[in-house]
Amino acid sequence: MDNTSHPLKVCQMCKKHLTLDHFYRRKNRKGEYSWKTSYCKSCDIQKKNKYQAQNKDVYNPGKNKYKRNYYRKNPEKVKIIQKRYYYNKLPPDKKEQYKQKIIDKHPDWVQQICY
Ligand SMILES: [Zn+2]
Repeated sequence: MDNTSHPLKVCQMCKKHLTLDHFYRRKNRKGEYSWKTSYCKSCDIQKKNKYQAQNKDVYNPGKNKYKRNYYRKNPEKVKIIQKRYYYNKLPPDKKEQYKQKIIDKHPDWVQQICY
């Protein structure tokens, strides 16, 4: 048996050599799968738990209920927040394009999304 069909990857967190199925695949911007994730699944879960613990406000189930209500009552505000988040993550050359799209569809939102 050769190992080439089961390439090993080192987890950056626990430093274990594991087969690729111990790692989550992530989609990159082009929608292709990549193995960029450097943490094995169990470390990834630990990392997420840690992250969630640090962001209790966001993941607190009680607050999620609140968030759902908030969404129902303020669908527009939530959309603006989501769009702003999206906008902020765009590369500079795409931002202008996206801004134009907002101007076309929701001219009154632009000030709140693109600043
Ligand atoms: Zn690990």
